[in-house]
Amino acid sequence: MVDRLVNSEANARRINNVEQCFGSSGQPLGIPGRVLVGEGVLTKMCRKKPKPRQFFLFNDALVYGNIIIHKKKYNKQHILPLEEVKLENVEDEGGLRNGWKLKSPSKSFVVFAATATEKKEWMAHIRKCVNDLLAKRGIRQSTTNDSPVWVPDSEAKTCMHCRKSEFSLVNRRHHCRHCGRVVCNACSSKRWLLPQQSSKPIRVCLTCYHKLSGEAADSNVSRTYAVIATGENRNSSGEDSSDDDDDQGRDGLPPAGQSGGLDIHDAHFQSYN
Ligand SMILES: [Zn+2]
Ligand SMILES: [Zn+2]
Repeated sequence: MVDRLVNSEANARRINNVEQCFGSSGQPLGIPGRVLVGEGVLTKMCRKKPKPRQFFLFNDALVYGNIIIHKKKYNKQHILPLEEVKLENVEDEGGLRNGWKLKSPSKSFVVFAATATEKKEWMAHIRKCVNDLLAKRGIRQSTTNDSPVWVPDSEAKTCMHCRKSEFSLVNRRHHCRHCGRVVCNACSSKRWLLPQQSSKPIRVCLTCYHKLSGEAADSNVSRTYAVIATGENRNSSGEDSSDDDDDQGRDGLPPAGQSGGLDIHDAHFQSYN
């Protein structure tokens, strides 16, 4: 079905429309052979709380952004190449339902669909696109370098490493870039080079630091990593602002599935097949 759309006018028009909605805040999306497979609003678990984001599924990439005006204007565009994207089911818990993990080396997070049916549809479509792409390119995925899904701030009142340090306005929360747990400053004073996430060494917790330096000592190739990591790198790199689509933009929109500013009908997954 997707093949039928490759050179269609409708497909070109849809992709051009997505590009227009992101305006200068986004990258050009019209690549030969690219097909817009579907789109819809998903609720993305961010550091502080779940927030609605517009997602576009292409046959080679998953693109998402903040919603300024639904169907008209988006910003903070993120592009995840599909050959790196893996899915993992998330069980329903409390008010958070119909979720799954989107994992990749550069970014991993949890999203929620409005209904169970929509979740099924999204996951099936993404899986199919990923599998088709991998088959076409003759490659297999590796999961070893996936970035961690960050534990939301609200789930940690105390440091998840020392279990003593209580968070407050002065005792800030930090996220380990290797395991995603919320830890205190003292328990995350070390930096490590995780090349998929950043070109500079970034914050890791002490547990991960010891694990990573142990692994590095066991292998010759990683010796340079250990050297970099022993320096107390206190510059601003890898500060906790890297969950960057969290902070700005319009956050007044309710999560998908709870009526409000969004036209719920439009927010549902829309497939173009
Ligand atoms: Zn601690
Ligand atoms: Zn860690």
